[in-house]
Amino acid sequence: MDGNGICGVQDAVRLRAVGDIALSQPATINCKTAQTLRAWVEGGAKPSVGKRGGGLSSLKVAAHYACRTRNSQRGAKVSEHGKGNAIDISAVRLRDGTEISVLEHWGRGKNGKILKNMHKAACGPFGTVLGPNSDRFHQDHFHFDTAEHRSGSYCR
Ligand SMILES: [Zn+2]
Repeated sequence: MDGNGICGVQDAVRLRAVGDIALSQPATINCKTAQTLRAWVEGGAKPSVGKRGGGLSSLKVAAHYACRTRNSQRGAKVSEHGKGNAIDISAVRLRDGTEISVLEHWGRGKNGKILKNMHKAACGPFGTVLGPNSDRFHQDHFHFDTAEHRSGSYCR
């Protein structure tokens, strides 16, 4: 799907960390998405973790810029990942080394609650928030993007 000119990132930034929170791999996203991610880290992710495990340490980035269709399905529209509007987070790590992952902990106990709160906090800052309750493509990560919808944020 590359070479047809429909992908690309305007105002691209290559993000290695969000404040004092490290990213597992550098993420190429646009400036607006980077700012929204920062707002979520400070206002959603950090408070959700609180003091558990010494606090939030890093985010595991499962995907960022990629020129592909939605859910990589043939014939589908270009993904927000192809515009630099999206980032996928599959897990967070705490300062004591604990990893809380969407695949293992969603819907389970205290870590599940933390993930649920993080998901909820992303809704609003991000225009689209998808997790395990959305569809089979999001069982192991959160998808956040800054696409705007006329009807407000879409969160599942
Ligand atoms: Zn995604």
